[in-house]
Amino acid sequence: MALLSVIAIDGCKNNKTKMQKELLTFIKKFDSVVQPLSKDASLAYWNASISGKDDDWAKAEELNIQLTKVFSNKEDFAVLNRIKEADAITDELLKRQLDVMYNAYLGNQVDTTLLNSIIKMQTEIEKKYSNFRADVDGKKLSDNEVEEVLKTSTSSAVLQSAWEGHKAIGPVVAQDIINLVKKRNEIAKQLGFNTYHEMSLKLSEQDPDEISKLFDELDNLTRDAFAGLKGEIDAFLSKRNNVKTEELMPWHYQNRFFQEAPAIYSVDLDKYYKDQNIETLTTDYYTSIGLDIKDMIANSDLYEKPGKNQHAYCIDIDNEGDVRVLCNIKPNYNWMNTMLHEFGHANYDKYIDMQLPYSLRNPAHTFTTEAIAMFFGRMASNAQFLVDMKLTDTADARIVSAEGFKVLRLEQLTFSRWAQVMYRFEKALYADPDQDLNKLWWELVEKYQMIKRPADRNQPDWASKIHIATSPCYYHNYLLGELLASQFNNYITVNVLKSDNFGQCYYGKPEVGQYFTEKVFKPGARYSWNELIEKATGEKLTAKYYAGQFVN
Ligand SMILES: [Zn+2]
Repeated sequence: MALLSVIAIDGCKNNKTKMQKELLTFIKKFDSVVQPLSKDASLAYWNASISGKDDDWAKAEELNIQLTKVFSNKEDFAVLNRIKEADAITDELLKRQLDVMYNAYLGNQVDTTLLNSIIKMQTEIEKKYSNFRADVDGKKLSDNEVEEVLKTSTSSAVLQSAWEGHKAIGPVVAQDIINLVKKRNEIAKQLGFNTYHEMSLKLSEQDPDEISKLFDELDNLTRDAFAGLKGEIDAFLSKRNNVKTEELMPWHYQNRFFQEAPAIYSVDLDKYYKDQNIETLTTDYYTSIGLDIKDMIANSDLYEKPGKNQHAYCIDIDNEGDVRVLCNIKPNYNWMNTMLHEFGHANYDKYIDMQLPYSLRNPAHTFTTEAIAMFFGRMASNAQFLVDMKLTDTADARIVSAEGFKVLRLEQLTFSRWAQVMYRFEKALYADPDQDLNKLWWELVEKYQMIKRPADRNQPDWASKIHIATSPCYYHNYLLGELLASQFNNYITVNVLKSDNFGQCYYGKPEVGQYFTEKVFKPGARYSWNELIEKATGEKLTAKYYAGQFVN
């Protein structure tokens, strides 16, 4: 008996050593292939998005295909799978690398024909979206132009035709999307998941039940406050458009989806930024909290150029400190917010511990880096920020303080109710793509956004939201980012600064930069996201601080 157990332990030890050795060999090979390849791919993408040239785009695409090939390799995955099943890795960092690589490979382990047909279907749908122009009273309008009409017109008839013109994309793509959803579900089933929604969440280490619980919690916390604000919105819009509140329709809400707050307050934040150097303000702000961004600013591309990508993003080129930001700065509120946002991402990437193994030199989750970006982006409407950055005086800031906060609260609550619709719709869509989706969509819109379905409307209005087709099962991460931004704000105020002023901008407080560096940035992906959040704030992710900040 004794002898047997000694043999068993020995066998166990041998297996452990063998597995560990095998994993180390795998990692060495993985790093030597993936690190240079993904650096090349990032550089190519960066160059293409600045030049806009076909040749540059072709190069970026080619490198991307090569990278995807690495992760769809069946033999490599078999090695990872065997090591994982043996469950013999005990070293914390090795185990974590194994999990991260395993998840990255798993999503690509389906037959190539299926994968390719999905890529093709998605590209076709994207083309239909790009080529679509809303037909509004004989004129063809782009999305931006439709948004402009919805924001500026006060004629119900004009608003209705713009809104309906935009929704006409729905019937063009709806059946394609349903087919795509079914294909995506096939992938999920091949890999042992019930639906593609479940698969997407689980592969990014999110437990669908846990995420649903957070959304329920947030729904309960925000419902009454939103209903109150919705009353304010309706009163304002009814007067502005000269219609009775009970006659307000979806096209009166100044946005195609009512995902952004209508402009019901009079505060004008642009005026504080119109004569300012946004780049300098960003550098000064981050320097004052102890985060040096000068090196990254120097490598970035911050102003408009012909052919250049018109939006903004941050990219970690090599996971070794070469972090760059693309922007198209104009001196206004939006770009101040965006610069603070993107350099929030950039700091996260820059200050990740470079001693970590390569595959862990990433944020814990896409939404944890989103949270940092949102945390700093919010400063652009913060009254104390305007004072500390010498953009206004204290007396004026008192006025901004009340109004600026009201704007932020309205933006947050409006977005949070919209995100509820998106999360619940996608979950139900993948669970049963054959159900009456038009009905489901409007039931969710009425329940969460509290706006009225136009009488007898039975159109695939859900299909007019491009994210459902092209960025599936991802939208909820934006809301999780906002929740975490509020959780950080609370933790830092109470525990780092020992204060009860929750509206600070943290200018001149290097302990804030130090907190983020030590507790959030440095660990990279060495912990799963909720473990990281618990270590950094003493609690798992919760909706209560978001509610505390924006409800009341
Ligand atoms: Zn972001």
